[in-house]
Amino acid sequence: MNTTEKFLDTTVKFINLVAKVLPDDVVERLKELRENETVAMSKAIYDSMFENLDKAVSLDRPICQDTGVIQFYVRVGTKFPLIDEIGDLLYKATLEATETVPLRHNAVETFVEKNTGTNTGKKVPYIDYEIVPNSSNLEMDVYMAGGGCSLPGRSTVMMPSAGYEGIAAFVADTMVNWGINACPPLVIGVGIGTCVASAAKLAKKASLRRVGSRNPEPKAAEMEEALEKALGNIGIGAQGLPGKSGVMCVNIENMARHPSALGAAVSFGCWAHRRGTISFDKNMDYTLLDHKGVTL
Ligand code: SF4
Repeated sequence: MNTTEKFLDTTVKFINLVAKVLPDDVVERLKELRENETVAMSKAIYDSMFENLDKAVSLDRPICQDTGVIQFYVRVGTKFPLIDEIGDLLYKATLEATETVPLRHNAVETFVEKNTGTNTGKKVPYIDYEIVPNSSNLEMDVYMAGGGCSLPGRSTVMMPSAGYEGIAAFVADTMVNWGINACPPLVIGVGIGTCVASAAKLAKKASLRRVGSRNPEPKAAEMEEALEKALGNIGIGAQGLPGKSGVMCVNIENMARHPSALGAAVSFGCWAHRRGTISFDKNMDYTLLDHKGVTL
C-alpha cells in the first residue's frame, strides 16, 4: 500500500470508528452525569444511552441513525507529503465510508433540493484547513454534525455595552429555547469575536474542544465554569426531560474584537458527540488522540 492508499484506508476506518464509538472524554462525562442523576426518568435515559453505546459496538452499527454531515477540521503541516491531495482524499474517504460504515445520506443540494445519496455535494464534506508551518504531520478532527444538534446553533452581533452578561443571556436563551431539542446532555461551544462569521467559527472550535478542558485565559475559564453551573441547574436533564443536568460542558473560544462590535455564537453537540482526533506522520502512521487503546 502506498502512502496515498494508506491515508485513505486509515481515514475510512477512522470515520467508521467515530460513527460507532464516542471519544473517551465524552464517555467519562456521561458516566459522571449518570452517576449524579437523581431523577428516575433521566437516569433510565442515561442507562439506555449506555446500552445504545454497547449495542453500536456489538452490532457494528452507528450510535445514532442520523450520522450527520461529515466535517473535517484539518491542521496540516506545510511539509505534509499529501498536502496537495487532502481535499480529494477526504472526498473519496466520505464516499467510501458512506457505503461501508454505512452512513445515512445527508447531503441535499440547495436550490436543486435533491439528496445526492452519497454524503458528498457542493462543499460537502465540509473541510476546514489550518496551515501549520514547518511540520510534516497532519492532525484532523472528524465530526459528525447531526441535524438535531445543528438546528439550535445561533450567531449574533451585539453592542459592546451588552458585555459578558449579554453573552451569557444569549447563550442561556439559546439553550432554553432551542437546545432542549438537541438530545441533551449537551456540549455547548461559545465563540466570542467581532462578526457572526468569526464568532460562529470559534463556537464550532469550542464545541470540538475536549470535555473537561478549560480556556487558558482565567476569566474565560471562570465564565465557562459559571455557565456550566447555571445552565446545568435549570432542571433540564437527559433528552430535554426533567433532570439534574443537561449540560456536558461549556467551552469558550475567544479572539480580539473590533471595539464597536461584540460577536457571539453558540454551537451545540448532542449526547452522541461523535468527534475524534487523529494524527498522521509523514509515513501515514497514525495516532488516535481521543480513543485510547483502539487500533483501526
Ligand atoms: S441530536 Fe444527536 S443523538 Fe439526537 S438524533 Fe441528532 S445526531 Fe442523534
